[in-house]
Amino acid sequence: MSLTQRIETPSVTYDQPLGLFIDGKFVKGVEGKTFETINPTNEKPIVAVHEAGPEDVDIAVKAARKAFEGVWAHTPPSARGHFLTKLADLFDEHTDILAAIESLDNGKAISMAKVDVQLASGCLRYYGGWADKIHGKTIDTDHESFNYTRHEPVGVCGQIIPWNFPILMWSWKIGPALATGNTVVLKTAEQTPLSALYAASLIQKAGIPAGVVNIISGFGKTAGAAIASHMDVDKVAFTGSTVVGRAILQAAAKSNLKKVTLELGGKSPNIVFNDANLEDAISWVNFGIFYNHGQCCCAGSRIYVQSGIYDKFVEAFRERTIQNVVGDPFHEKTFQGPQVSQLQFDRIMSYIESGKEAGAKVETGGARHGDEGYFIQPTIFSNVSPDMKIMQEEIFGPVCAISKFETEDEVIKAGNETAYGLAAAVHTTNLNTAIRVANSLKAGTVWVNNYNMLSYQVPFGGFKESGIGRELGKYALSNYTQVKSVRIRLGNALF
Ligand code: ADP
Repeated sequence: MSLTQRIETPSVTYDQPLGLFIDGKFVKGVEGKTFETINPTNEKPIVAVHEAGPEDVDIAVKAARKAFEGVWAHTPPSARGHFLTKLADLFDEHTDILAAIESLDNGKAISMAKVDVQLASGCLRYYGGWADKIHGKTIDTDHESFNYTRHEPVGVCGQIIPWNFPILMWSWKIGPALATGNTVVLKTAEQTPLSALYAASLIQKAGIPAGVVNIISGFGKTAGAAIASHMDVDKVAFTGSTVVGRAILQAAAKSNLKKVTLELGGKSPNIVFNDANLEDAISWVNFGIFYNHGQCCCAGSRIYVQSGIYDKFVEAFRERTIQNVVGDPFHEKTFQGPQVSQLQFDRIMSYIESGKEAGAKVETGGARHGDEGYFIQPTIFSNVSPDMKIMQEEIFGPVCAISKFETEDEVIKAGNETAYGLAAAVHTTNLNTAIRVANSLKAGTVWVNNYNMLSYQVPFGGFKESGIGRELGKYALSNYTQVKSVRIRLGNALF
């Protein structure tokens, strides 16, 4: 099988790289295996890509190690920044292709896919700016000593990303790792390998030295597990499910105690008070759950509405939801495309069935959309109770549950009654309520009068079982650096 294929999408025709990107070149896997990636809009294969197994992971890690000790160690910080800026420019130049690949491979609505590419290039450029601003401190102890710290790169970083934001997650991982002087072996999700491989060709174009970034396509249990347990990987950064996050932490503990950062699942509460601006709140609640077809780890899937506006809210939210355009991701007006895979489609449909069986009321949706592709109607449940599966488990689809509450204390307690703690939101026009509730919710991000607003300057990550560490912003730099203390004796003291 060849290493590129010409692919036609409804918006662009382009050359898709298919190989593993190792040591600056696209290559076939050692075992010669390939796997198909499926178009979720029509359920048909798009193309087959080369598959990495553990041996390929090992080759990629060796390339990353060589680059880390060699060329990258000798690349000045400002030059690392320049490479990232160049890469960001190339993302901008290739926005139409990258966005089309996302719509083809993931099913993401094209207008949203373009925003993802812009956010990805912004993230790369932002971390490019940090590259030459990373430094330690001098610390006074006594007149006989001179002490300073250095913020050194961790080394070879394994990065494992999910399928819900393929190109955006690529940039969140690669930006801070490269800015701080690390090298990378990144594994994409098996459902969506294509945009990362195209971005790998932009790595080549940007002139980033061979081995600094290695991109492999493959499965979690083989390639992913090989990264997590590799003895020469110094750190693993993972975004995905909590189940797999635990497995990665265990593999790290059992191998070389590599550093681990995890960005995992959520079951985020979205709280609307009586005094909220109703029209705004409905718009953000709708965006909070249905954006990216509900496939967001921070999706606002538990909606709590205060009793004074509950009936009005449910009615208006249903009306708003019905207006969401579901369909072909390549149509500019589409808001919601298909779910990513048959597996996800089946999982979500089984949650919908479980909600119905448990006695929840379907306000709208509750069924498949159309008869081809993995489309699901945006679905709202009401009449739910906290013990229902749809209230406890992450559904990762366009399905939410609305509950009524009376008091602030009651809703804070309900909002926090979950093992997750990724995000939450509060809608109110009272500043005091907003701040009190934001301070009381156990979540890594609390949005006030908005939802899903993410910026590369602002940290993102989870409390409780939603993760370890923070991505984005200055905070992410500390995940990719380790502090070395250097202590110099100035005087003549002896022991
Ligand atoms: P989802 O259930 O949403 O597909 P996963 O957590 O299974 O999310 O997948 C996220 C990423 O983790 C993917 O790149 C997948 O291949 C990878 N992965 C899955 N299982 C493992 C594993 N045991 N070890 C390492 N990576 C894994």
